[in-house]
Amino acid sequence: MLEARNLRKTFGDMTAVDNISFKIEKGEIMGLIGQNGAGKTTTFRMILDLLTPDKGEVLWKGEAFTNRLFNQVGYLPEERGLYPKVSIEDQILYFAQLRGKSKKEIKPLIDNWLEKFDVKGKKGDKVKTLSKGNQQKVQLITTLIHQPELIILDEPFSGLDPVNADLLEEGIKEAQRNGASIIFSSHNMNNVEELCDSLIMLRNGQQILEGSIKEIREQFGRTKLFLESPLSTEALLQFPGVQQARVNKDGVTEVTLSQTEDGKAIFEAATKDGYIPTFSQQPPTLEEIFKRMAGEKHE
Ligand code: ATP
Repeated sequence: MLEARNLRKTFGDMTAVDNISFKIEKGEIMGLIGQNGAGKTTTFRMILDLLTPDKGEVLWKGEAFTNRLFNQVGYLPEERGLYPKVSIEDQILYFAQLRGKSKKEIKPLIDNWLEKFDVKGKKGDKVKTLSKGNQQKVQLITTLIHQPELIILDEPFSGLDPVNADLLEEGIKEAQRNGASIIFSSHNMNNVEELCDSLIMLRNGQQILEGSIKEIREQFGRTKLFLESPLSTEALLQFPGVQQARVNKDGVTEVTLSQTEDGKAIFEAATKDGYIPTFSQQPPTLEEIFKRMAGEKHE
């Protein structure tokens, strides 16, 4: 449905986005992750035709995406911006009208949306009287209320407390069930794990990881071992391939292996006298992968 092909953008001699390609189908959610300055916002702006790529193209339903299609889009930009002196209701109506909706269509929906996002304020209140998080929720409503088919959210979770983050996750899932194609960026890997069908990680403008979260995690091998057994950390460190061994605050020993196969010898030694309560070999978490990949030197 949305396809980006070989997008590239330079600012002077700096390459902000370098040859990025992906596809998002109807009803699919894609996450875009990467350190500050990795190129996420620049990618969003190119998709939305707010920036012209130096190279590459963006197709929406097989045709070039131009800002004529804006009525089909819901975009939460990184720089939040509402009119502080305008009431919540007028603000929502104004933005919906910009997207081609009539007041008559949107007005009856507003109470329901304010309730869905638990906005603390009355619809006649001026936006400036709301807390920052509540202002952000109003802006999210202006992004979603016209039922866009393409939703682009630049760090929508930043500044939301965990309860409101859950409400937003629900809102995003509902838009997905309604068939929208959704992309969002986030620095919170829990939100990414919870929502994304697919994921792209950018580093210095380059696409260094892509796929479903499971596929990405499995690429790194099952190198995290969680163990409750008679083996001490000192004993574990003697096994081939063991890089680290430490007891965590729950009393479970966490072992970092060089490769998945290194777990076998430990399993045999740990179970030689029979039952042990924990032996679990897992790929690294998305957060660990992010830190590892972001920290690696750019070639
Ligand atoms: P963050 O997580 O901090 O929001 P990001 O991944 O969204 O970062 P971008 O805003 O896309 O990153 O920026 C990518 C790079 O392009 C950065 O080095 C940034 O300084 C540069 N850049 C972005 N916009 C411009 C511009 N208009 N002119 C010059 N450089 C720019």
